[in-house]
Amino acid sequence: MINKNTIKKDFPIFKANPKLVYLDSAATTQKPQAVIDALVKHYENTNANIHRGIYEMSEQATKHYEEARAKIARFIGAQGARNIIFTRNTTEAVNLVAQSFARHHLKAGDEILLTVMEHHSNIVPWYLVAKEKKLKLRFVRITSDGTLDPKDLVAKATKKVKLAAFTHVSNVLGTVNPARDLVSFFHARGIPALIDGAQAVPHMSVDVSAMDCDFYAFSGHKMLAPTGIGVLYMKDKYLGSLPPFLGGGEMIRSVSETNVVFADAPAKFEAGTPAIEAAIALGAAVDYLEHIGMKNIERHEKELAQYTLEKLRQVPGVTVYGPTDMKRRSGAVAFNLKGIHPHDIASLLDEQNIAVRAGNHCAMPLHKFLGVPATCRISPYIYNTKKDIGVLYDALGDINKTMFGS
Ligand code: PMP
Repeated sequence: MINKNTIKKDFPIFKANPKLVYLDSAATTQKPQAVIDALVKHYENTNANIHRGIYEMSEQATKHYEEARAKIARFIGAQGARNIIFTRNTTEAVNLVAQSFARHHLKAGDEILLTVMEHHSNIVPWYLVAKEKKLKLRFVRITSDGTLDPKDLVAKATKKVKLAAFTHVSNVLGTVNPARDLVSFFHARGIPALIDGAQAVPHMSVDVSAMDCDFYAFSGHKMLAPTGIGVLYMKDKYLGSLPPFLGGGEMIRSVSETNVVFADAPAKFEAGTPAIEAAIALGAAVDYLEHIGMKNIERHEKELAQYTLEKLRQVPGVTVYGPTDMKRRSGAVAFNLKGIHPHDIASLLDEQNIAVRAGNHCAMPLHKFLGVPATCRISPYIYNTKKDIGVLYDALGDINKTMFGS
């Protein structure tokens, strides 16, 4: 359960800045004391490098790091801890698949199918590999309600497509894509599927086994954990066959002057010293989220999104983007106010201690498609309440008054 009256107390940032209305959690979330404590506890008690120390403290650190991996595997319904590869973030996870899978398995003329609502981190890694290997990127369009256009999807999922990569939840429109159905649709055509779960894992229960996706990427810092830790889920069938993305220590079994034998996955994909403390703290974040319950989180955010939409519609000159059907959307809401640049809205809101994002949100193709250079985005999380949305609503009213006297 979310205790709306006390949850902010778990987050020290709101003690430091009690007036803060933080509505930019799609960019990064605030951190609860439990996560900060896990980070500090590691440094204070068990700080050592992992997997190579023969001494007790290193073994402890290794144990905590591997426990975090196992916890994350359970949290997203992976077959086992072996399927969880720690990366720096979603971006690195997608790059890993682009370099290990696409670069080695796709050939000139093959296509990668994306959608127009992708974040740049699910476009640029494919662009890089496409340029090198002469692959083609195609983008599924969206309809006027901000959901994928089924006709365009069918038309573009041709025999040439050798990989589909799509976002589970749009970071701008809040659209929740039907991930499970999309994966079956692609698999029926022999197309493997990568899902960008950066905006899904923090907000809803995700089961990668039920979804049957081939790859699933997400970031710790958007789900209460520190920056510098992310996850790539990889299905068993790729663990042995894909080559590593980066080379170095930790990912090898043996090295000679003429040959290298790689370690088994997931170590094969984790070259060098990882963000040990951040991985452990991600484990603590998972504990915190599970304690509240993902279903409760989803319900809370839907309620907030519904309320946000209702309030925004009362603001003169507003345009709201994304699905109106609450079943198809998550908490993030993008909007514009007529005659005011989104950057001006964000800085005027900042004067009232309200943090929102303005810009293209690393989704330039989507904004081009929407026909606007930028939007303002409200993205609430577990610590936000209707009161926060009320403060935002009043502030938008003030902005309209200041700018237009109405
Ligand atoms: N995908 C989506 C949908 C996102 O919202 C973001 C972050 N805004 C990313 C990918 C990239 O995440 P990161 O910067 O943590 O790699």
